Amino acid sequence: MMDKDLLGADYYSVESSRAYWSISQYKRFRECEARAVAELDEEWSEDRDSTPLLVGNYVHSYFESQEAHEVFKSENGSTMIAKTGATKGQLKKDFKIAEIMIQALQSDKQFSEYYVGEKEVAVTGVINGTDFKGKIDCLNIESGYFVDIKTTKSQIDDLVWSDEYRTKMRWFEAYGYVLQMAAYKELLYQQYGKEFTPIIYAVTKEDVPDTRAIVFQSDEKLKYELTELSTMISKLDAVKKGLAEAIPCKHCNYCKSHGLTDKVEIY
Ligand SMILES: [Zn+2]
Repeated sequence: MMDKDLLGADYYSVESSRAYWSISQYKRFRECEARAVAELDEEWSEDRDSTPLLVGNYVHSYFESQEAHEVFKSENGSTMIAKTGATKGQLKKDFKIAEIMIQALQSDKQFSEYYVGEKEVAVTGVINGTDFKGKIDCLNIESGYFVDIKTTKSQIDDLVWSDEYRTKMRWFEAYGYVLQMAAYKELLYQQYGKEFTPIIYAVTKEDVPDTRAIVFQSDEKLKYELTELSTMISKLDAVKKGLAEAIPCKHCNYCKSHGLTDKVEIY
């Protein structure tokens, strides 16, 4: 077997997902353990629209380096070009919006002052006995902060519905980005022995995009998220290792197609 670079070129491989926890994997397990295990066993993959992910990567690679952006474009060129309709042969609408978001960040003078440091840095550490990995958009070791670019559909101040908390909250809370920032801060603390300040650099997909640095100055919410993660991860790690039964959510496509939904309801 060829040695894989689990934290580099093979960061997004299933082997890397088996060796390390990531926050996105944790979220996947919280949604449905049965589906998450089937995904790790490569027995299930969902036909998800990859456009939002590609749009995010388009923006990220631009600010990583010119070379990274060119590689991204040459690898994904065919999926970014419209094959039918009025814009046939041109960049699809979503990637035109990505271009506008790039321009918005570029013309935000503060962004270029913040976005200084090492790009796409892999970090690892241990959270409650389990190996975690993370990839940081921009790490400034000297000044003690890190920046993650997050694109969002609506206005930066908007509240969105959270299925998990059954209430409206800020979009970066609802999408688990506070948890992600908390985990990265902890992994960096383990690796460098100092406290880093997390910053989400938000850019909106509005017709006229807005940009803003959301600086996590207070530890309170970060600590809360990290405590919950530490509590939950032991049981989920047992499920991941096959030592505990994976519980089906009974609602997702995996559960529906594997007869794991409730078949009788007493009304
Ligand atoms: Zn499910």
